[in-house]
Amino acid sequence: MEATLLACPRCKRAVPVRKRLLLVLPEGDKYEYVCPQCGSTCGTTVEAPPPMGRL
Ligand SMILES: [Zn+2]
Repeated sequence: MEATLLACPRCKRAVPVRKRLLLVLPEGDKYEYVCPQCGSTCGTTVEAPPPMGRL
């Protein structure tokens, strides 16, 4: 598991957030980063799927 440090708005410090799958979108999977201490959402990201069959 990768550990990402993000600033938590409630804890007021950088925490090793947990990545949680939120939505599956046509342009990629949307994840949110959750603080393991208080459960606050520290941020979101969309990971584009690897381009396949587009050569
Ligand atoms: Zn927190």
